[in-house]
Amino acid sequence: MPMAFVAAAANATAFQTPTATNPPPQVRFSSSSSATGTAQIPEISVLSPMVTRVLGLNPGKFTLQGTNTYIIGNGARRVLIDTGEGQEEYHEKLAKYAALVGFEIEAVLITHWHGDHVGGVRKILEHAEERQQRKNPDEGGIIPTIYKYRLDDEVVAGLRPVEPQPHWEKLGESAKHGWQFVGVADGERLDFDGFSLTAHHTPGHAADHLVYWLEGPEETAMFSGDNVLGEGSTVFEDLGEYLDSLERMARVLARAGGSGSNRRVRVYPGHGHVIEDGHGKVREYIGHREQREREIVGSLRRHHQGQVSYGDGLRDGVSSVGVMEIVEDLYRAYPATLHGAAARGVVLHLTKLEREGRVESEHGKWRLVGEIGEEEWCKL
Ligand SMILES: [Zn+2]
Repeated sequence: MPMAFVAAAANATAFQTPTATNPPPQVRFSSSSSATGTAQIPEISVLSPMVTRVLGLNPGKFTLQGTNTYIIGNGARRVLIDTGEGQEEYHEKLAKYAALVGFEIEAVLITHWHGDHVGGVRKILEHAEERQQRKNPDEGGIIPTIYKYRLDDEVVAGLRPVEPQPHWEKLGESAKHGWQFVGVADGERLDFDGFSLTAHHTPGHAADHLVYWLEGPEETAMFSGDNVLGEGSTVFEDLGEYLDSLERMARVLARAGGSGSNRRVRVYPGHGHVIEDGHGKVREYIGHREQREREIVGSLRRHHQGQVSYGDGLRDGVSSVGVMEIVEDLYRAYPATLHGAAARGVVLHLTKLEREGRVESEHGKWRLVGEIGEEEWCKL
């Protein structure tokens, strides 16, 4: 054990387990700078008796303050959810904290394949192997098991090192160097030291996305990955799947809250601050998407009816409309530089509506299917 760790371990008893009357301390090794103008998140925060957040130290435009990784449990063996991007400083802080408090990571649960969530897997395994080699053989030392949802085209390899697989390219650098993971099934419950985590396959943001449902004597909570964030809104690959996933998350959270009870269940997001009212936030996300859908259908309708004005007077009604015309109609208050990003969102909504048979497209132009009566319009 290096000297720094010996000194740190001696102080470990000074670290108090938080209770209801003794609120969790904010452990700060140093303050994290925010490159994004978002509220700061300390590098390490004890959030509850069961959950500690370690910031991935990879702030940026898409990662907000950086990726949140979570240590779960309060015994000698704990679980880590997500691994950040692979920043060396993150791994040093994580190792220092584990030595200070006195625990080892027995399992790493991945929410989804994006690089800012799986990028640290390789270093975590390397560090664990180094620690194991330094120890006496009878002292053990744990190499964590990596868990992740398994897509059909992914190979769960039996032995490490794993030869790079062509379709693992999308898993980023860590996959190129090879690491094995254990496939987790939808609804599977993983039991650990005094708590369990149940995986729910919730695609949309990413095809392999899992949220994890924590159940322990002290706490029930959800780890939402990137499906719901602590601030702003998230991006998605498939809106229909994404909304189905949000509905599923809302059901799980509502069940835990109990019928008629006001008990709020926390959501720990992949980026941003803790969400105290998890169910309320998920419903807010669903409401936001439904609102956007109504606006897009409304724009198509106005175009059909010749009610859209572009400053040069009303345009004649048209049977079908291009994506950018919808964007210009709905986002006229926003600078044109944002219209490209807005168009992507509009296309995802139109794709969902097309799958539901509510719109159809031809040569890149979109139109509502059939005639929508006033009564039906009100229900949209
Ligand atoms: Zn992501």
